[in-house]
Amino acid sequence: MRAALTLVALAAPFVPAASTNYSHHHRPASAVRLVVVHETEGSFGATISWFRNRRAHAAANYVVGRDGRIVQMVPDSVVAWHAGNAYVNAHSIGIEHEGYTGVEGTLTDAEYRSSARLVAALLKRYRLPADRGHVIGHDEVPDPYHRGAFGGFAHHTDPGRFWDWPRYMSYVRDYRAGVTPPPRPLDVTIPGLTLDQTVTGLVAWNAATTGEAVSHVDFAVDGIVRASVTAAPYTWGWDASLETNGRHVLSARAVGVDGRTALATVVVDSQTPPAPPPVVTLPELPPLGGVVAITPLLSGGPVARVELWIDGVVTQTATAAPWTLTWDTSTIPPGPHTLAIRAVGPRGRSTAAITQVTVPEPAQP
Ligand SMILES: [Zn+2]
Repeated sequence: MRAALTLVALAAPFVPAASTNYSHHHRPASAVRLVVVHETEGSFGATISWFRNRRAHAAANYVVGRDGRIVQMVPDSVVAWHAGNAYVNAHSIGIEHEGYTGVEGTLTDAEYRSSARLVAALLKRYRLPADRGHVIGHDEVPDPYHRGAFGGFAHHTDPGRFWDWPRYMSYVRDYRAGVTPPPRPLDVTIPGLTLDQTVTGLVAWNAATTGEAVSHVDFAVDGIVRASVTAAPYTWGWDASLETNGRHVLSARAVGVDGRTALATVVVDSQTPPAPPPVVTLPELPPLGGVVAITPLLSGGPVARVELWIDGVVTQTATAAPWTLTWDTSTIPPGPHTLAIRAVGPRGRSTAAITQVTVPEPAQP
């Protein structure tokens, strides 16, 4: 079994793709001229499942995980359908990498190293040089039908601008030369969370750094820094109950004492039941006239904002404790009016308290 021999050479477990997802024609070793780098746009497990699905009509020869795991899914000696270009498929090995092309930091250093070691072994076996002429991105594969277009016929953009080609190719050259590349001067990972993991409630989020001393680690959700931690352990609790359910991008940026930075990102899926809404109770209102301040009494779930409604129109919004609302009663005619205070939770659930008030005639001078 040729495939089995291949496995032993690279020590990657073989998890076969569905037989509908590649060509079964054997190719000579001399046909292999290229390695094509891809990015999965989903988790390692989901990618393997997809390539094992008979409806995919696509597969890569290898899949590399963010933790450095490798599985082989199509033998090197047959043609995997990965590049959207039959000629390129026939002459290449396709390698998928767990990550998101459009999200900076989802690829890990362990993943780059593991893939580079694999590619170095392949280049050696096929007697190819370790250069960018022989290791290309899917986004550099010509569209076979449209001159000047790339990414195969479907114009895929992986691995994209966040793929660190200088780092990757230096690792490939080092492994090709039989040298283990030195560790990064500064690196950061998020060891407790995996790509596309489902999370609920309070997510304890740890950033592990290696290399030089760290000045601080910034924790960002969907691109906005929420916390900056200045001492190890670099951990922050993210309360998913305060956010919309669905996809969120969690990033940890380590800043070294010399200003050097390293970034780690995971994409997670929050499926957190909503917190109960805040409950608002009207305080005893001050005598109306001129500008009055009203501080509502709040209980129940967390509060994002409190609104003052006069006759069905929002006239003021408070976005921070103590949630005091001010109302200039001289701006409306004297007489009866409807006053409501609405408290809104972070995910939009709200309650309101409503009362009728009478604004007196202004005092005569
Ligand atoms: Zn691709």
